[in-house]
Amino acid sequence: MSESEELARLRARNAELEAQLKQKQRLATKAVASYQQRALQMEIIRQQNEDLDRLAADLAKAKRIAEEHAREQEATARLKSQFLANFSHEIRTPLNGIIGYVDLLSREEGKRLTAHGRRDLTTVRRNAKTLLALINDILDLSKIEAGQVDVVEEQVDLKTLAEECAATVEEILRGRDVELVVDVAEDAESLITDGLKIRQIVLNLMSNAAKFTEMGEVALHATCEGDDLRMVIEDTGVGISPEDLPHIFEKFRQVDGSRTRTKGGTGLGLAIVHELVLLLGGKLDVESTLGRGTTFEVRIPGVVHDGPAKRQSSNSEKWAALRSSETFQVLVVDDDPMIQQLARKELESEGFEVVAANDGIEALRIMREEKPDAVVLDIRLPRLDGWGVLSELKSDAELRRVPVIIMSVEEERSRGFALGAYEYLVKPIEPSALTEVVTGAVAAGGDGHVLVVDDDADTRELVERSLTADGFTVKSAANGRDALLQIRHDPPALLVLDLVMPEPDGLEVLERIRTAGHDFPVVVFTGKDLDEQDQRRLREGFVRVLQKNGVALDAVLSEVRERMQKRRSDRPTLPRVLYVEDVVQNRDIVRRYLHGFVELLEANDGEHGVQVAEREKPDLILMDLSLPRLDGWGATTRIKANPELASIPIIALTAHSSPEDRAKAKEAGCIGYLTKPIERDLLLKTIMGELDGR
Ligand code: ADP
Repeated sequence: MSESEELARLRARNAELEAQLKQKQRLATKAVASYQQRALQMEIIRQQNEDLDRLAADLAKAKRIAEEHAREQEATARLKSQFLANFSHEIRTPLNGIIGYVDLLSREEGKRLTAHGRRDLTTVRRNAKTLLALINDILDLSKIEAGQVDVVEEQVDLKTLAEECAATVEEILRGRDVELVVDVAEDAESLITDGLKIRQIVLNLMSNAAKFTEMGEVALHATCEGDDLRMVIEDTGVGISPEDLPHIFEKFRQVDGSRTRTKGGTGLGLAIVHELVLLLGGKLDVESTLGRGTTFEVRIPGVVHDGPAKRQSSNSEKWAALRSSETFQVLVVDDDPMIQQLARKELESEGFEVVAANDGIEALRIMREEKPDAVVLDIRLPRLDGWGVLSELKSDAELRRVPVIIMSVEEERSRGFALGAYEYLVKPIEPSALTEVVTGAVAAGGDGHVLVVDDDADTRELVERSLTADGFTVKSAANGRDALLQIRHDPPALLVLDLVMPEPDGLEVLERIRTAGHDFPVVVFTGKDLDEQDQRRLREGFVRVLQKNGVALDAVLSEVRERMQKRRSDRPTLPRVLYVEDVVQNRDIVRRYLHGFVELLEANDGEHGVQVAEREKPDLILMDLSLPRLDGWGATTRIKANPELASIPIIALTAHSSPEDRAKAKEAGCIGYLTKPIERDLLLKTIMGELDGR
C-alpha cells in the first residue's frame, strides 16, 4: 500500500471515529438533559411534598385549635346553663317566698286588714308573679335552646286547665269591656300529654290576646279531630300588621319595640309557645287583621284520649270514706320554713297530721320511724338531696310504697316519674292543689286489683271478665302508655302484661316499672317468640311466669288466681329476711334475686340493722361486714348478745375473704359466709337451707 493510500484510509477512519464520537456526544447530551429534567421533576415533587407536609401541619394545628375552641364552647355552654339554673334558683326561691308569705298573710290576717292593705297585698302578689313569669321565660328558652326539655305524658283535664288559665287572664282584663269565653268540647276534655306545656301554651296565647284587646271578646275553643287536639285562641284586639306577622315568633321580637311602648312583655312569649308546640309534635298558625283581631291555631296530634278526664274524683270519694275512719300522716321535707308552714296549714286544715323535715337525712330517719302515708319532697335539700331520698326510699322494702310528691322549682318531671314519684308539682303551687294531690295519693292504691294490659280488646275483655267472675277487682289498659300512667297513680297487686304492643312495648313497660321501684308480680302473656335478649330483660324484671302463644289463656288465668290467692293468704308466711348493706346497688341485686322467695327487710348500716332486727325479729339476717356507723362484726355481736334475737341465723355476705375475716365473722356469731359477687343460686340455696333446717 502506498503512503497516500494509507493516509486516505486513516483519514476515512478518523472521520468515522469522529462521527461516532459526535453520535456518542449527542446521546450523552440527551442523557444529561433527560437526567436534568428528571432532577428538576424530583425537585418539584420534593417541594410539593414539603408544601403538603406544611399543609398537613397547618391543618393539624387548625384542628387542634378548633377542638380547643369546641371544648371551650362546650364548657361555656355548660357554665351558662349551670349559671342560669343556679341564678334562676336564687331568684325564684325568694320570689316564691314573697308569694307564699303574701298568701299566708292574706289568709291569716286578711279579715283584719283594711281594704287598702288588702289591695296593696294583691299588688305585691301580682308583681311578684309577673317577675317570676319573666324569669321562667328566660330559663325556659335557654333550656329549650340547650335541648334540655323533655316531654312527660300524663292525664290532662283540658277543661279545668283552660278554666284556670282563664281565671288568670281575667285579672288582666279587669275593668275592660271584654268578654272571656272558654269552650272545650266534651270529647276534647281528656288528654294524655304534657300538662305543664299545654298550660304554658294556653296561658301565653290567652294572656297575649287579653293584653292586646280593649273591647269585644277573647275566646278559647278546643275541639278534637280524631285524636288530634285543635285549639283556637281568638281576640277582637288591635291585630298585627302583615309586615310584622312573619316575625312575631322570633325571639325578643316585639311589634312595638320602642321604650315608650304601652304594653309590658319580653318578646319571648310567642317564641316559647312556638317551640313548645313543636316539642309536642304540633303546629302553630296565626291569622290577623290590623284593627280587627288575631286568631292563633294550635294543633297537637294524637293526644286526645277517650278515658275519663278526672280520675282524681274517684279517689276523692274514697278519701271521704277513708278520712272518717283514720288519720293520715304526711311528711313535708323542705329546708324553707315558709313552705313547711304553708304546707302544714293547708294539709292540717284538711285533717292530715303533718310532720316536717329540714333535710334529706332527717327525712329518711323520720320515714323509718313514723312510716307516714305520703311524703311531700323538695329536691334541693341540705345533706342529702331529694333525688337521693327518693332512690333510698325506693330501695327500701318497707318504704317503697309510700307515695312521694315532689315539689320543686326545678322542672325535672320525667326524671321524677322514672324514679317512681307519684306526682311532681312545680313551685309555686296553689296550696289547694297540694291537698288535692296528697289526698289522691293517700286514697290511691292498696286495693289489690289486677291490671290487664293488652292492645287486643277481645283478649283484654276475656281476661277481665274471667277474673272479675272470680271476685277480683280488675282494671285494664289498652297500651303501654296508659298502663304506665295508671300504675303511677294506682299500682296494682298484679300485672298481666302483653309483650307485643305499639310503643312502649311490654318489655319497656316492665323495665320502667321496675326502675320506678314497683315490685308487684307480673304475669307475661304473649305470643311472641322470645330471643335471648328478651329473656334476659324478663329475668331482670323478675317475671316469673311466661306463657307462649295466645292459646294458653287458661293457664294465665289460673296463674293469676294462684298468685292473688297466695298474696291474700300466704303473705305473712313468706320467710322474712333482713339484709344489712350500705351499697344501694347490692341491695337492689339481692332484692331481685330473692323476690318471691322471701319478704326482704333492709337496713343500710349496722346500727340500723340492729334496730330493724329488734323491731322485726326476722327469720334470717344477711350481714355485710364493712358498714358505716357500726360494722357487720359489731352488729352481729350485738344481735347475738340479745337473748330475744340470739337464735336468728346470720350469714355474712361480703367482699372480705381473708381467712382472718372469716374467723372473725364466725367468732361474732355468723353461721355462714358468702363472698361477693353474689351468686343467685348459691344465695338461695344457702338461705333456704338455713330456713328449712329450722
Ligand atoms: P310580648 O312578651 O312582648 O308579648 P310575645 O312573643 O308574646 O312577646 O309577642 C310578640 C309580639 O307579638 C307582641 O309584642 C305583640 O306585638 C304581638 N302580639 C302577640 N299576640 C298578639 C295579639 N293577640 N294581638 C296583637 N298582637 C299580638
